[in-house]
Amino acid sequence: MDDVRLIPLSALQHYAYCPRQCALIHNEQAWAENWFTAQGQQLHQRVDRGEPETRKGIRYERAVLVSAPQLGLSGKLDLLEIDLQSGQFCPVEYKRGRAKADDWDRIQLCAQALCLEEMKQTTVEQGILWYWQSRRREPQILDEPIRQRTLAVIAQVRTLFDSGQTPAARYQAKRCKACSLIDLCNPKLGKDRSAHYRQQLLNPDGTGGT
Ligand code: SF4
Repeated sequence: MDDVRLIPLSALQHYAYCPRQCALIHNEQAWAENWFTAQGQQLHQRVDRGEPETRKGIRYERAVLVSAPQLGLSGKLDLLEIDLQSGQFCPVEYKRGRAKADDWDRIQLCAQALCLEEMKQTTVEQGILWYWQSRRREPQILDEPIRQRTLAVIAQVRTLFDSGQTPAARYQAKRCKACSLIDLCNPKLGKDRSAHYRQQLLNPDGTGGT
Protein backbone atom coordinates (compact mmCIF):
# COMPACT_ATOMS: atom_id res chain seq x y z
CA MET A 1 0.00 0.00 0.00
CA ASP A 2 3.04 2.24 0.48
CA ASP A 3 3.34 2.96 -3.22
CA VAL A 4 -0.30 4.05 -3.64
CA ARG A 5 -0.31 7.54 -5.10
CA LEU A 6 -1.92 9.89 -2.61
CA ILE A 7 -4.43 12.33 -4.03
CA PRO A 8 -3.62 15.96 -3.22
CA LEU A 9 -6.53 17.69 -1.52
CA SER A 10 -6.43 20.38 -4.20
CA ALA A 11 -7.19 17.73 -6.86
CA LEU A 12 -10.68 17.23 -5.44
CA GLN A 13 -11.61 20.81 -6.09
CA HIS A 14 -9.97 20.74 -9.51
CA TYR A 15 -12.05 17.64 -10.33
CA ALA A 16 -15.27 19.18 -9.05
CA TYR A 17 -14.54 22.24 -11.21
CA CYS A 18 -13.72 20.23 -14.33
CA PRO A 19 -12.42 16.62 -14.58
CA ARG A 20 -10.34 17.61 -17.58
CA GLN A 21 -8.67 20.40 -15.62
CA CYS A 22 -7.89 17.88 -12.86
CA ALA A 23 -6.30 15.46 -15.33
CA LEU A 24 -4.29 18.19 -17.06
CA ILE A 25 -2.86 19.39 -13.75
CA HIS A 26 -2.34 16.11 -11.90
CA ASN A 27 -1.83 13.52 -14.66
CA GLU A 28 -0.08 15.72 -17.19
CA GLN A 29 1.60 18.20 -14.82
CA ALA A 30 0.26 21.14 -16.85
CA TRP A 31 -0.04 24.45 -15.06
CA ALA A 32 -0.62 28.04 -15.98
CA GLU A 33 -1.32 31.08 -13.88
CA ASN A 34 -4.07 33.55 -14.46
CA TRP A 35 -5.38 36.43 -12.38
CA PHE A 36 -7.54 34.11 -10.25
CA THR A 37 -4.81 31.56 -9.47
CA ALA A 38 -2.23 34.29 -8.75
CA GLN A 39 -4.60 35.99 -6.32
CA GLY A 40 -5.37 32.65 -4.65
CA GLN A 41 -1.65 31.89 -4.23
CA GLN A 42 -1.05 35.30 -2.75
CA LEU A 43 -3.84 34.78 -0.23
CA HIS A 44 -2.53 31.36 0.82
CA GLN A 45 1.03 32.67 1.20
CA ARG A 46 -0.27 35.34 3.57
CA VAL A 47 -2.30 32.81 5.55
CA ASP A 48 0.57 30.30 5.76
CA ARG A 49 2.98 32.85 7.22
CA GLY A 50 1.25 33.21 10.59
CA GLU A 51 2.81 31.71 13.72
CA PRO A 52 0.88 29.20 15.90
CA GLU A 53 -0.93 30.91 18.75
CA THR A 54 -3.51 30.33 21.48
CA ARG A 55 -6.36 32.75 22.16
CA LYS A 56 -9.38 32.27 24.42
CA GLY A 57 -8.89 28.54 24.71
CA ILE A 58 -8.42 27.95 20.98
CA ARG A 59 -5.10 26.83 19.50
CA TYR A 60 -4.51 28.15 15.94
CA GLU A 61 -2.04 26.25 13.77
CA ARG A 62 -1.31 27.29 10.18
CA ALA A 63 -0.19 25.41 7.07
CA VAL A 64 -0.82 22.04 8.74
CA LEU A 65 0.28 19.03 6.68
CA VAL A 66 -2.10 16.08 6.65
CA SER A 67 -1.77 12.59 5.25
CA ALA A 68 -4.41 9.85 5.33
CA PRO A 69 -3.19 6.66 3.59
CA GLN A 70 -6.44 4.75 4.15
CA LEU A 71 -8.37 7.46 2.33
CA GLY A 72 -5.51 7.96 -0.10
CA LEU A 73 -5.29 11.71 0.50
CA SER A 74 -2.62 14.18 1.50
CA GLY A 75 -2.35 17.95 1.57
CA LYS A 76 -2.13 21.07 3.63
CA LEU A 77 -4.71 22.82 5.78
CA ASP A 78 -4.68 26.61 5.74
CA LEU A 79 -5.59 26.76 9.40
CA LEU A 80 -6.48 24.24 12.08
CA GLU A 81 -8.38 25.41 15.14
CA ILE A 82 -8.27 23.16 18.19
CA ASP A 83 -10.65 23.76 21.11
CA LEU A 84 -8.37 23.01 24.04
CA GLN A 85 -11.24 22.20 26.38
CA SER A 86 -13.26 19.80 24.21
CA GLY A 87 -10.37 18.64 22.01
CA GLN A 88 -12.50 19.35 18.90
CA PHE A 89 -10.59 19.95 15.65
CA CYS A 90 -11.95 22.44 13.12
CA PRO A 91 -10.26 22.93 9.72
CA VAL A 92 -10.46 26.41 8.17
CA GLU A 93 -10.08 26.86 4.41
CA TYR A 94 -9.43 30.32 2.98
CA LYS A 95 -10.98 31.15 -0.37
CA ARG A 96 -10.33 34.05 -2.68
CA GLY A 97 -13.90 34.80 -3.78
CA ARG A 98 -17.25 34.61 -2.06
CA ALA A 99 -19.54 31.72 -1.04
CA LYS A 100 -20.79 29.65 -3.95
CA ALA A 101 -24.04 27.79 -4.44
CA ASP A 102 -22.33 24.54 -5.39
CA ASP A 103 -20.33 22.08 -3.29
CA TRP A 104 -16.74 22.60 -4.54
CA ASP A 105 -15.43 24.34 -1.45
CA ARG A 106 -17.37 22.18 0.99
CA ILE A 107 -16.00 19.01 -0.61
CA GLN A 108 -12.42 20.20 -0.13
CA LEU A 109 -13.16 21.19 3.47
CA CYS A 110 -14.87 17.88 4.20
CA ALA A 111 -11.90 15.98 2.75
CA GLN A 112 -9.65 17.90 5.15
CA ALA A 113 -11.90 16.82 8.01
CA LEU A 114 -11.78 13.18 6.84
CA CYS A 115 -7.97 13.37 6.84
CA LEU A 116 -7.96 14.71 10.38
CA GLU A 117 -10.37 11.99 11.48
CA GLU A 118 -8.09 9.28 10.11
CA MET A 119 -4.94 10.84 11.57
CA LYS A 120 -6.31 11.73 14.98
CA GLN A 121 -8.91 8.94 15.34
CA THR A 122 -11.56 11.50 16.16
CA THR A 123 -14.74 12.99 14.71
CA VAL A 124 -14.68 16.42 13.10
CA GLU A 125 -18.16 17.85 13.18
CA GLN A 126 -17.65 21.14 11.43
CA GLY A 127 -15.23 23.22 9.42
CA ILE A 128 -15.05 26.85 8.36
CA LEU A 129 -14.85 28.42 4.91
CA TRP A 130 -13.40 31.93 5.05
CA TYR A 131 -14.05 34.11 2.01
CA TRP A 132 -11.66 36.92 1.20
CA GLN A 133 -14.11 38.91 -0.91
CA SER A 134 -16.88 38.95 1.66
CA ARG A 135 -14.50 38.75 4.67
CA ARG A 136 -16.83 36.19 6.21
CA ARG A 137 -16.37 32.95 8.11
CA GLU A 138 -18.98 30.47 6.97
CA PRO A 139 -19.33 27.51 9.39
CA GLN A 140 -20.09 24.23 7.60
CA ILE A 141 -21.68 21.26 9.33
CA LEU A 142 -20.03 18.14 7.92
CA ASP A 143 -23.12 15.97 7.73
CA GLU A 144 -23.62 12.62 6.05
CA PRO A 145 -24.67 13.93 2.61
CA ILE A 146 -21.52 16.06 2.18
CA ARG A 147 -19.38 13.19 3.49
CA GLN A 148 -20.90 10.81 0.94
CA ARG A 149 -20.46 13.34 -1.86
CA THR A 150 -16.83 13.86 -0.84
CA LEU A 151 -16.12 10.12 -0.74
CA ALA A 152 -17.71 9.77 -4.18
CA VAL A 153 -15.45 12.53 -5.59
CA ILE A 154 -12.38 10.91 -3.98
CA ALA A 155 -13.29 7.62 -5.70
CA GLN A 156 -13.81 9.38 -9.04
CA VAL A 157 -10.47 11.16 -8.79
CA ARG A 158 -8.77 7.86 -7.91
CA THR A 159 -10.28 6.32 -11.06
CA LEU A 160 -9.09 9.29 -13.12
CA PHE A 161 -5.56 9.05 -11.70
CA ASP A 162 -5.40 5.29 -12.27
CA SER A 163 -6.63 5.62 -15.85
CA GLY A 164 -3.93 8.13 -16.78
CA GLN A 165 -6.47 9.49 -19.28
CA THR A 166 -7.48 13.08 -19.87
CA PRO A 167 -11.21 13.53 -20.55
CA ALA A 168 -12.24 15.46 -23.65
CA ALA A 169 -12.94 19.16 -23.32
CA ARG A 170 -16.53 20.24 -22.77
CA TYR A 171 -16.90 23.97 -23.20
CA GLN A 172 -18.77 25.69 -20.38
CA ALA A 173 -18.47 29.42 -20.93
CA LYS A 174 -18.40 30.59 -17.32
CA ARG A 175 -15.95 27.97 -16.07
CA CYS A 176 -13.72 27.89 -19.10
CA LYS A 177 -13.31 31.68 -19.16
CA ALA A 178 -12.07 31.60 -15.55
CA CYS A 179 -9.85 28.54 -16.09
CA SER A 180 -6.09 29.22 -16.18
CA LEU A 181 -5.60 26.29 -18.57
CA ILE A 182 -7.90 27.59 -21.29
CA ASP A 183 -5.06 28.25 -23.75
CA LEU A 184 -3.63 24.74 -23.28
CA CYS A 185 -7.03 23.12 -23.37
CA ASN A 186 -8.62 25.00 -26.26
CA PRO A 187 -12.12 23.81 -25.30
CA LYS A 188 -13.92 25.65 -28.11
CA LEU A 189 -11.70 24.49 -30.93
CA GLY A 190 -11.37 20.96 -29.64
CA LYS A 191 -7.60 21.22 -30.17
CA ASP A 192 -5.70 19.80 -27.21
CA ARG A 193 -2.37 21.60 -26.82
CA SER A 194 -1.48 19.76 -23.61
CA ALA A 195 0.60 17.16 -25.52
CA HIS A 196 2.63 20.01 -27.01
CA TYR A 197 3.03 21.49 -23.53
CA ARG A 198 4.29 18.12 -22.19
CA GLN A 199 6.74 17.84 -25.06
CA GLN A 200 8.06 21.33 -24.33
CA LEU A 201 8.59 20.41 -20.69
CA LEU A 202 10.50 17.24 -21.55
CA ASN A 203 12.42 18.66 -24.45
CA PRO A 204 12.46 22.46 -24.35
CA ASP A 205 15.16 22.87 -27.03
CA GLY A 206 13.27 20.69 -29.53
CA THR A 207 16.22 18.37 -30.23
CA GLY A 208 14.17 15.20 -30.04
CA GLY A 209 15.39 14.14 -26.60
CA THR A 210 16.70 10.71 -25.69
S1 SF4 B 1 -10.82 25.35 -20.31
FE1 SF4 B 1 -12.81 24.48 -19.69
S2 SF4 B 1 -12.80 22.33 -20.44
FE2 SF4 B 1 -10.68 23.10 -20.46
S3 SF4 B 1 -9.81 22.43 -18.53
FE3 SF4 B 1 -10.56 24.52 -18.22
S4 SF4 B 1 -12.66 24.31 -17.45
FE4 SF4 B 1 -12.04 22.32 -18.31
